[in-house]
Order: sequence, then structure tokens, then C-alpha cells
Amino acid sequence: MVPTKPTRTTNPRIEPLVPDGRTDSRAARARSEPMAVVPLGDGRYDVVVGAGTAYTVALPEGTCTCPDYQYRETRCKHLRRVAIEITDRRVPAPDERDADCAACGERVFVDAETPDPVYCDDCTLDAGTLVRDRERGDVLVVVDTLQKRARAVDVGDHTVATHPSNEGYDPDDVVVEAVYPVRDATPERLRERGVRTYAFPRGRLERV
Ligand SMILES: [Zn+2]
Ligand SMILES: [Zn+2]
Repeated sequence: MVPTKPTRTTNPRIEPLVPDGRTDSRAARARSEPMAVVPLGDGRYDVVVGAGTAYTVALPEGTCTCPDYQYRETRCKHLRRVAIEITDRRVPAPDERDADCAACGERVFVDAETPDPVYCDDCTLDAGTLVRDRERGDVLVVVDTLQKRARAVDVGDHTVATHPSNEGYDPDDVVVEAVYPVRDATPERLRERGVRTYAFPRGRLERV
């Protein structure tokens, strides 16, 4: 899961990608004409060209419902526009879906198979990040953010999700492993202390 940040397409704005260069080729018009691309899922996209007028592009089949494609079977400007907007990360690719970051609400594109909740790059806790435990107020250091969900990670007789201290957190949250900071940490001192790693649902930790 490598989320990237697209621009927002809710309430689509029908706009050109570049100023009108007064050129006639389909490739140029795909960029210069005002259109809005609305992903429908399964590789299908509506291309809105004006109030109440939209054509549907099916990427897997490489088809469009516009007259240019229907009568000339050419790679029309709508097919081209969808390809451009996917390349520019303005809309999700056919194997992706869009989702809201569970921490900040930012819109991200993720693999279509990735379940909610998802986190944007900024809200993914990398190793070394200082975080605060919302339950106890303690500050910890992140060791790793797992791809696994709280309901799928065991801690003793419980999973992270069913552990009593994690009541009320999303059982589908990703699991973050963290340690309590050790003063003047050296490899020897860490070994001596037998530093223990704790597993938290992501929602329980906030960046310090
Ligand atoms: Zn078309
Ligand atoms: Zn975020």
C-alpha cells in the first residue's frame, strides 16, 4: 500500500488541463478542452463535457460512448483524457480506489484490495517517529507500522483489537509497534534492558 496524494475530484470541475492552444488534433484537445473525469469503478469513467452531457469510457475494452468513437472507432479525446488524468494522479487507475485518510481526511488512492481504514503518507507512522499513547499519555518511539490489522495480531491471550485497553478502537486499524524510549540508548544498554515492543491500533497513537 503506497498511497499518493491526488487532487480532489468530488464536485467535479469541468476544466481544461492546459490553455486552449487552438490546435485541432485529438491529443491536443484531450488536454485543452474543459472536461471532468469521474471514476465509476471497474475501469469505467464518466467524462463530463458540459451540463448534463457525459460520455462513458471503459478502459479495459478501450471504448467510449461518444459519436467520434462510435462512428469512427478512433481513440477519441475522452479516452485520451482519462489516460492523461490517471498518469497525472488526478483520478484512480482501474486497479485502484480512492479513500479518505483515517487520521486527517486527505483523499488518497490505494490498491483496490486494500481495506479501510487507510492512511496517507503524512499519517503513516515510520520507524523513529515519536508518538503519544492517547490512553496513558506516554510518549513512545515507533518501530514499525504493520500491514496487518488489529484483529489479526495476537498479544498473549488476546488480539490487539480485543485487548481490554484497546476497547473502542477500530479492529480493522493497522497495527503500529512501538517501544518506550531508553535514556542514552546504546545496543548494549538495550540488550541489557530487554526492550519490549508494544503493539497498538494506529488510532490509539498520535504524532507528537
Ligand atoms: Zn469519446
Ligand atoms: Zn492523513
